[in-house]
Amino acid sequence: MKHTLYIVVPCYNEEEVLEVTAKALKEKIEHLIKHNKISSNSKICFVDDGSKDRTWQIITKLHNSNSLFSGIKLSRNRGHQNALLCGLMTVKGYADMVISMDADLQDDINAVDEMIEKYLEGYHVVYGVRSARTTDTLFKRFTAEGFYKLMSFFGAEVVFNHADYRLMSKRALDELESFKEVNLFLRGIVPMVGFPSCNVYYERKERFAGESKYPLKRMLSFAFEGITSLSVKPIKLIMSLGGSIFIVSIIMLLYSLIQHFNGNTVSGWTSLIVSIWALGGLQLMAIGIIGQYIGKVYLETKERPRFIVEQFLDEKEGNTQ
Ligand code: UDP
Ligand code: MG
Repeated sequence: MKHTLYIVVPCYNEEEVLEVTAKALKEKIEHLIKHNKISSNSKICFVDDGSKDRTWQIITKLHNSNSLFSGIKLSRNRGHQNALLCGLMTVKGYADMVISMDADLQDDINAVDEMIEKYLEGYHVVYGVRSARTTDTLFKRFTAEGFYKLMSFFGAEVVFNHADYRLMSKRALDELESFKEVNLFLRGIVPMVGFPSCNVYYERKERFAGESKYPLKRMLSFAFEGITSLSVKPIKLIMSLGGSIFIVSIIMLLYSLIQHFNGNTVSGWTSLIVSIWALGGLQLMAIGIIGQYIGKVYLETKERPRFIVEQFLDEKEGNTQ
């Protein structure tokens, strides 16, 4: 039995690129169907993330011209991550595997063939990883790679140089559904789902038309969102900073007392300087400790699944699921 593939493409104000993208993806899917790699029920699903331009009209037109195209319209702009999740959760009932990619074809669609091969080998998640950033400007490369380094320093584990170009099996998507995060950062959550996964490498091209919706400012806020959604390491850092300052304050206490008894000080200096250091350190440490509890509450409210069963061997029935 051949497997059904859905390609999910979130689109926000992409009227300039959509038709070209649709044509390229259509050729890709038809080629794959012709070579018996995927079932003829496979489709391309565009998710209109509340665009203000003609994006939805183009999607409707594409759908009317060919049933290969399907479309989802969000009630308003909810951002790339939510639009993508909406697409994944909507199509997973019809597909065996779903590939997500951006509308601007910056991700090489020829990597799709290799992703499908990996899926057929038994991988549930296949990450598209950029092998080089030769086409990016030096500034974009520096900030983008800094983004991944910053993320991992603050305890948010992500696949280096992987954006949201990936294949996921229906099984992995079903499990992804149980992650009830409101602060969505899919690149961090997908690895938490687990299952056998691998990387496929490709070269990222330049956007052929339209503008990037992720300038530096949005990228920084995206990184901040990622870190605070995935890890409580910043709170731990505050606590250790508080602890260190408190230790320094004890050293300062000894130093000030020695100076005081040696008569090298103006009156009042010792008590003043010691209280500044000690109080500062204590306050930071206390905030850190409170933060630890808030961090726990925060993780609890996420109600993430505590485990995911990959295989269930039922002895009685003698079947494997
Ligand atoms: N996008 C979206 N909603 C938004 C912003 C972006 O669905 O609010 C889509 C956009 O149409 C594109 C993808 O997310 O398909 C990635 O955006 P972009 O190419 O601008 O980001 P970059 O590649 O520059 O990081
Ligand atoms: Mg792009």
